[in-house]
Amino acid sequence: MKTIGVLAIQGAFREHRKTLEKLGVAVKEVRSREDLEGIHGLIIPGGESTAIGKQLEMNDFGGTITKMACQGFPVFGTCAGMILLSKRIDESNQYSLGLMDTLVKRNAFGRQIASFEADIPIKGLTGNDVRAVFIRAPYVLEAGPQVEILGEYAGKIVFVRQNNLLASAFHPELTDDSRVHQFFLDMVDQYQL
Ligand code: GLN
Repeated sequence: MKTIGVLAIQGAFREHRKTLEKLGVAVKEVRSREDLEGIHGLIIPGGESTAIGKQLEMNDFGGTITKMACQGFPVFGTCAGMILLSKRIDESNQYSLGLMDTLVKRNAFGRQIASFEADIPIKGLTGNDVRAVFIRAPYVLEAGPQVEILGEYAGKIVFVRQNNLLASAFHPELTDDSRVHQFFLDMVDQYQL
């Protein structure tokens, strides 16, 4: 059976756990470099990217994730997780794993509409649009040629894939629709060594 790790330092990790369990995979909460053993993919949840980044900076925790991801290990970042996966963060020199060839902007939708929901079409998913929950969400300002744009809202890039890496500006773990998680699990199967 597949085991998916959920980074459980801070933020919405319990909700990811529930969605993954509904899809029938084993879940392991990851709090240290040692916990990265024996998992087939990793989800980095939403929360506060600077707080999560501070923990990743210690004991080569983040460095180990980066090394694994460079060898094809699948990682999915949601919201703060998208920020942590990005090579470049607009107007910030905070810690990142430096993996996706993107420039992201934090809290990008502005204070007035900090949190909102929208139905957006996602490339590669069949059926209805996905209800996307945005909470002080980032978006992608620039994406390199290897980055596939899978979802946009109001002309802004909010869902991207780069080979074994996936990132959403919204929170797919906060609705009952598990298609986005299933999409990631299919990626995990694809990258199984
Ligand atoms: N605004 C947060 C940050 O910049 C992200 C918000 C979220 O993950 N819901 O880290």
